[in-house]
Amino acid sequence: MNPAMSDRTERVRAAMAQIWEEHRDQVMERVVFLERAAALLEAGPLEAGVREQAERHAHSLAGTSGTFGFPRATEIARSVERRLPSFDQGDWMTQAIVELRQELELPASIPEVAIGGPQEVATERVLLVVDGDPLMLQSISETAAPRRLRCVTLSTPDEAAAALAADPYPHVAVLGWEPGGRGKKTLQLAARLAGMSPPVPVIVLSEGGAFTDRIEVARLGAQRFLPRSIGPQRVVEEVERLLDPLRFDGMKVLAVDDNPLVLDTVRALLEDQRMTVDTLADPRRFWDVLEEKRPDLVVLDVDMPDVSGVELCLVVRGDPKWVHLPILFLTAHDSPEAIQRVFAAGADDYVAKPIVGPELIARISGRLERVRLYRRLAETDPLTGLANRRRLVEAMDRLTRLSERYDKPLSVGVIDLDHFKAVNDEHGHAAGDAVLVAFARLLAGAFRGEDVVARWGGEEFFVALYGAPRDQAARRVAEVLKQLQGLAFKGSEGSFSASFSAGVAEYPLDGNDLHTLYRAADAALYDAKTAGRARVFTAALDEGSAPASALPPSSPIRVE
Ligand code: GH3
Ligand code: MG
Ligand code: MG
Repeated sequence: MNPAMSDRTERVRAAMAQIWEEHRDQVMERVVFLERAAALLEAGPLEAGVREQAERHAHSLAGTSGTFGFPRATEIARSVERRLPSFDQGDWMTQAIVELRQELELPASIPEVAIGGPQEVATERVLLVVDGDPLMLQSISETAAPRRLRCVTLSTPDEAAAALAADPYPHVAVLGWEPGGRGKKTLQLAARLAGMSPPVPVIVLSEGGAFTDRIEVARLGAQRFLPRSIGPQRVVEEVERLLDPLRFDGMKVLAVDDNPLVLDTVRALLEDQRMTVDTLADPRRFWDVLEEKRPDLVVLDVDMPDVSGVELCLVVRGDPKWVHLPILFLTAHDSPEAIQRVFAAGADDYVAKPIVGPELIARISGRLERVRLYRRLAETDPLTGLANRRRLVEAMDRLTRLSERYDKPLSVGVIDLDHFKAVNDEHGHAAGDAVLVAFARLLAGAFRGEDVVARWGGEEFFVALYGAPRDQAARRVAEVLKQLQGLAFKGSEGSFSASFSAGVAEYPLDGNDLHTLYRAADAALYDAKTAGRARVFTAALDEGSAPASALPPSSPIRVE
């Protein structure tokens, strides 16, 4: 047991114990129903309606009891559910329900394994690195040291396996891997780490990037596959990403289950991971809630009255808007046919009931990681790594709301590199790209915090400065202009420098949404271009009038 976890374990345990207390009466009502059915069964076969309801109650008890520390109750309920359709007479059920009641009347003891989850950030996190190359071990170790990551470096999987038997329990692991016979032990180690409770996220470093290798690694539950050439810096960045306790902050999960006990359990487990959880007990309202909440992932119960989870899944997959929504099933049926049915309907994954916390969290985290990754890719300009226009739209939405709420100024700048066509023509497209990348870095470094920096397209950039009125924003953009002019770039025709022209507009003075603000700033940019380039203009207050202020271009400072 990782000591860093004890706090959160206690916290979740307390929440789960409370959930059990709150639902206890309902659970016992199910038992009472089963007792009555059992008495009827002693006399003869049950009416179809009664039998179905008894099956449903048994099913529900089987699905939840284990989560709260009653594994034996889960077993009994499951066997009752299985036997009900065929053993239609006798006292077998009475005996079973007597034992079931006895079990459930014991105090709940939430098993540790039902909680788990990624570790809380302790003062120090332990990173296990296993690699045959001492240089790799050393460079990762050195990069990790200033980041509150303590490295345990070992050169073989055997050593690591031995170390795992003792403390410290790692928070995350990086494993160097060679495909083929020699790598077998590494894969065993990866599987072991992924199977620990809570699972240890694993990053695999490998020279070979063959698809089949990646599959082999992914199958073992490794979270990342990185080429060795990526360097220690990026490896440690990935490590930090996996450890970030905020990584699921605000990601939305919608859980649908007719059993409120399951819903509360899912909520307690996922909210502890900082996910936002909406729950729905009535599957008939699913579509409305889906449209309203727009979740990042849906958890569906297979068996529900009125509409089954499988049916809901089919409907979701039938709508182009939702085809990519990750759907994970909770199921108490673990027969191959049942699982087959769930996947045929378009499920991404399933988790068996009773819910075991670490498993549920690991499966959901895995899916949400994907969602985050796709989103990041879809919202990032590949050349510069800046936000693209898509993310900008969202960010501006947020900033304008912030500006309203806190009555703070907000200004935007549209920036266009000067004579960039000539840069390409004279120095080559690659040199042009290098300018774009360097300029993006400059911008990203100059604006931080609430500010937004995006590549609008081509050689045009967009910045939004929160808290800055128009003139102040223009001065800050002009600072960046000076910095850019100080850079020397190498091209095919020798070294050269670059400059830009920019227009700045303020919200809501010059426009009350992204579109109108852009137009106002772009008009000022146009004026800056015609006035000779390499300058920053602010938007004119009245349309068509002269620019309100112009900052003189600074003379280029060359750095060779
Ligand atoms: P002005 O000062 O009036 O803005 O002149 P300009 O040459 O910068 O403007 P124009 O719009 O005529 O040309 C923009 C150039 O930017 C043309 C295009 O090839 C280049 N460009 C756009 N995107 C990229 C890119 O990703 N990489 C490179 N190397 N060049 C790009
Ligand atoms: Mg240009
Ligand atoms: Mg342009």
